[in-house]
Amino acid sequence: MELSKDVKYIKGVGPSRVELLNKLGIFTLQDLITYYPRTYEDRSKPKSIAECVHGDEVLIEVIACSKVSDVRLQGKTMQKLLVRDETGSATITWFNQSYLKNKFDIGKSYKFFGKVTNNFGKITMISPVFDEDDKSFNTGKIIPLYPLTYQLSQNVLRRIIEAGLQEVNGHLKETLPEYLLKEYNLEGLNEAIQKIHFPAKFEDFNSARKRLVFEELLSTQLALLQLKNNYQNGDNGIVFNKNVKMSDVINKLPFRLTKAQLRVLEEIDRDMESKKSMNRLLQGDVGSGKTVVAMCAAYKAVKSGYQAAIMSPTAILATQHFENFQKILEELGINCELLISGITKKKKEELLQRLANGEIDILIGTHAIIEENVQFKNLGLVVTDEQHRFGVKQRTKIAEKGENPDVLVMTATPIPRTLALILYGDLDISIIDELPPNRKKVETFAVNKNMTERVNNFIEKQIQEGRQAYIVCPLVEENEELDLKSVEKLYETYKKEIFPQYKVEYIHGKMKTKEKDDIMEKFKKGEIDILISTTVIEVGVDVPNSNIMVIENAERFGLAQLHQLRGRVGRGEYQSYCILKYEGKSETVRERMKVMCSTNDGFVISEKDLELRGSGDFFGTMQHGLPEFKIANLFEDMPILKSVQSAAIKILQEDPKLEKRDNFLLKELVKDKFMKRIEI
Ligand code: ADP
Ligand code: MG
Repeated sequence: MELSKDVKYIKGVGPSRVELLNKLGIFTLQDLITYYPRTYEDRSKPKSIAECVHGDEVLIEVIACSKVSDVRLQGKTMQKLLVRDETGSATITWFNQSYLKNKFDIGKSYKFFGKVTNNFGKITMISPVFDEDDKSFNTGKIIPLYPLTYQLSQNVLRRIIEAGLQEVNGHLKETLPEYLLKEYNLEGLNEAIQKIHFPAKFEDFNSARKRLVFEELLSTQLALLQLKNNYQNGDNGIVFNKNVKMSDVINKLPFRLTKAQLRVLEEIDRDMESKKSMNRLLQGDVGSGKTVVAMCAAYKAVKSGYQAAIMSPTAILATQHFENFQKILEELGINCELLISGITKKKKEELLQRLANGEIDILIGTHAIIEENVQFKNLGLVVTDEQHRFGVKQRTKIAEKGENPDVLVMTATPIPRTLALILYGDLDISIIDELPPNRKKVETFAVNKNMTERVNNFIEKQIQEGRQAYIVCPLVEENEELDLKSVEKLYETYKKEIFPQYKVEYIHGKMKTKEKDDIMEKFKKGEIDILISTTVIEVGVDVPNSNIMVIENAERFGLAQLHQLRGRVGRGEYQSYCILKYEGKSETVRERMKVMCSTNDGFVISEKDLELRGSGDFFGTMQHGLPEFKIANLFEDMPILKSVQSAAIKILQEDPKLEKRDNFLLKELVKDKFMKRIEI
């Protein structure tokens, strides 16, 4: 039995089905048996006809008491069959299934599963699946439902998977070591694979799933931690010059660094001077001062004779970084340049030329930096300011622009420890857990509709005192389905009805970069009083004079996102305010608003978010950067993830290279992980 065998050799798979299976990512027998159900349908418990409730999907065991009649109506054909059990009778109907005509014999028993209608006591079942008498292919059990492609039916796919399982028939090689199966009370692979497709009862599904999730998470976690071990023990990293002091930069700053910033800089400095290459994640809440940390590291790289690249998620941010860097570093003789898609072709060509020559020391830009034609002379440090998480592969791609450059990944999304370990498990982690002093807590209030007038008065008062306001709404365009206020509509309301005397502008993600930049520039200069915006302002734009943010339909945002948004205010000397306008009375919504009002600590908020929602929402902005798992779900499987992590850490402590005999299978799993299409 060969797991890598092409699916075309599986019983029931002809050329056209091969194509359909391929579309689902199923190429081999292994792919087939690990194509897991999306959900299940319980067709195991029969009901009597008298018990049938209108609208339910039910299983009935009945006797046919007519032949199938085949009538033609309006271009369709309709098949009818009368059935009964001891409690009553019912009509079964199908459309365009003439082949059923001689399928049923009067007096024989059959099982039907389908949706029931009850029309004044007249029971009808429409287009059910069925089995003869004692057979149970379509009924009588828990049936897996698979994610499907057009043209491949559940029945067909189920048959193919059943055939695949029969080939395997209990002969799969175990992939987890015996001692782990015992310690974590996991069932064997054969059992789990069989039961995940065809559980006899729902408990079977749970234990099967637990085992498969454990394996999937463990292989990912081990792979990441091993990668980290490799970095840490490697010796082919750049050794930056010990005599270049980051304090040159620090002394030029108009403020004193926080203890946390200094501690993090020490960690980075140590990495940079050592011969292992740095692969570090810098976590710090919005406003915690990550930019200067990046600046110090870039300074060190440049003065050691290398170039540095700083990559930001948006042009606005890149420009802001560029200005900040230039302000400090130009006087230290460092040449910074900005690369964003907005610049002219001529300017870009010239810039790329100078970059390749080594005339540019620090290149700051958007993802444009990763493009192929961007070549450095000797790139020594890569800093990415992440909005979305980059996978391991993407990170490697950026680093390939140099020879083993040091890599610093910055993120403002506070990630609970457990998640950080699996999302960034290949990186060392530094945390800035302290905000600069004199930062006033952003006062936050959650209000409903009938407070609108008071809120508007409050905004007016702040503007009269010279401040500026953000109004944030959740969607770009009118979406009838969700009935949310679009930015344009909101703009009209504020501009015409509420604040005609003030300068109101709007900005959203679908605008051209140039337009957006212009508006942000005007807002920065104080030429706009009120800026209506979608979440495009979420990422680190700095306007210290704006001290009030109103978030419309706050219930639509995840907590992490609300927190990020709120970070836009409270950046200057003024007391700042965040007003969360929400609708709805659900307990969760209120609880979430309460969290926002009670703390400004991003880590507390993210833990709470995880607890309250328990789903992917936490990651708001970084959603699409999550690793792809076949069966595990990082949020729902948090308890399994925790035991996987303690297992992984213990295993690698005792056997860092997985060389022990007991760990042979784990070594194979990790190897597999790196070879597969799977992105971590
Ligand atoms: P983030 O971590 O969100 O990227 P920034 O680096 O943009 O934060 O810093 C936010 C603001 O705080 C900037 O205006 C920056 O100059 C300022 N800042 C950074 N560190 C300090 C500090 N130690 N003391 C005072 N202000 C600081
Ligand atoms: Mg930042």
